[in-house]
Amino acid sequence: MRTETCDVLIVGGGPVGVTLANLLARDGVSVIVVERDIEVYPLPRAAHFDHEIMRLWQELGLADAAQKAARPAGAYEFRNAAGQVLLRYDMPANAPGGWAASWMFNQPDLERALRERLAREPTARLLIGTSFEGFESETVALYCQADEPFRVEARCIVGCDGASSPVRKALGIELEDFGFDEPWLVIDAIERDASGLPDINLQICDPARPTTCVLMGPGRRRWEFMIRPGEDPADFLTDSRIAELLKPWVPEGAVEIDRRAVYRFHGLLAYQWRKGRVLLAGDSAHQMPPFLGQGMCSGLHDAANLAWKLKLVLDGQASEALLDTYQTEREPHVRAMIQTAIAMGQVVCATDPVMVAARDAGMLAQRAAGKNPVPQPTPAQGPGLFRPDDAMARRMFPQFGRFDDTAGPGPWLIRRGDHPNLDALLCGHEAVLVRPDRYVFGAGEAAGLTAAYEAALTSTPFACSLAFSSRTGGA
Ligand SMILES: Cc1cc2nc3c(=O)[nH]c(=O)nc-3n(C[C@H](O)[C@H](O)[C@H](O)COP(=O)(O)OP(=O)(O)OC[C@H]3O[C@@H](n4cnc5c(N)ncnc54)[C@H](O)[C@@H]3O)c2cc1C
Repeated sequence: MRTETCDVLIVGGGPVGVTLANLLARDGVSVIVVERDIEVYPLPRAAHFDHEIMRLWQELGLADAAQKAARPAGAYEFRNAAGQVLLRYDMPANAPGGWAASWMFNQPDLERALRERLAREPTARLLIGTSFEGFESETVALYCQADEPFRVEARCIVGCDGASSPVRKALGIELEDFGFDEPWLVIDAIERDASGLPDINLQICDPARPTTCVLMGPGRRRWEFMIRPGEDPADFLTDSRIAELLKPWVPEGAVEIDRRAVYRFHGLLAYQWRKGRVLLAGDSAHQMPPFLGQGMCSGLHDAANLAWKLKLVLDGQASEALLDTYQTEREPHVRAMIQTAIAMGQVVCATDPVMVAARDAGMLAQRAAGKNPVPQPTPAQGPGLFRPDDAMARRMFPQFGRFDDTAGPGPWLIRRGDHPNLDALLCGHEAVLVRPDRYVFGAGEAAGLTAAYEAALTSTPFACSLAFSSRTGGA
């Protein structure tokens, strides 16, 4: 049987796997991505990414491609059955990542741009039509391409193989279930005449049929309809049923249906994200309902967190213990996202008339009192390779203008006076040390920061005392 070799083997060529491969290959790591399918996933999935993810596309030189595939989102409203506004988020045109807060896009367009970029990397190979069959050992995986088996020997393997993750299953890793499970019909359409269609993103919290209507990339629209208990999901995929559901929304001939699918929206989190030299990232490690538009975004944060750590460990510049900080940092962030997405889903999906009346009364009273929530900063990462007890650590460092392009790949030691917008942020500190994934390691005296960062890379002392709190299911 033939054997292929590489530093990092990535199982799954979805957005998370191919982003991770791009980041590693840009830094000279040899990568093989194996992908079961030939084409990018054809059914409707992500429609939204945020400013932090646009910053990641910028880092990969894909900001132009992303802007072509996306449009900034203006507002997100929750309305009740009577059309009253229960909640409204106005999305800032300038968010801390240096881009508009919120972008609506078409996932396959971005996945193609990621694959095209990867094809230009001399140290990366994407093997399509290739199925992961199992592990021979911790660092050898077995594959099949066009019925011909072969082996891949790698120093590290990352399972980015999606919700049903054969890698996660082969490792025997279980999922924590957050107890949310709702079937929805998802329809993607191409606009023929957008003049009569909503120009903001909407959640219609109508107990008779909870509905989502959002923009996507240029010229595209998404509708989602909750399937109520007792209804047959298969009935919802027919042309006639879809036409009936869209009738109140769409003037005759205004859109053409492109894709349709029924999904179960749920919240799941792997108890363990690393077993030795095998790691999980993206949907293989966590899934959430789409009400926050953060499922793929969370997986892309995994890729950004993992890429520089793998590079340092493979180069012998950091101890293997650095890889333990991957879960301690990422899991609390993802857990918070899952919980928020489920809380939003519970608002949208409520069908009990008493609960719905109480929800509407409560939310309308909040709005009348001027207590409309503003979009919150994304949660901090959990403890790991960060200075402990440091108020600036564990959050993403903001981008002023296109600072990242000037500064290049991190880490960065940025001193007071280096940038006019920085001094107020530093709260009296001399400097801030920013990791390669743009998260702040800590702020303080410059020499002390550098020494602490270098010591942490080789011993990861801050990570040692941290157990994976949820590995056994506890919070
Ligand atoms: C309706 C809906 C709406 C969503 N909206 C949003 C949103 O607005 N914003 C957002 O951020 N996220 C959203 N998401 C979530 C987002 O689509 C996923 O989180 C994202 O696609 C996961 O990416 P991934 O790379 O981890 O996995 P996937 O995209 O699932 O990729 C996994 C890949 O692994 C491959 N694979 C599987 N098994 C094997 C094998 N044995 N061998 C080789 N390859 C294999 C698969 O073919 C696949 O290509 C939404 C999801 C849905 C369903």
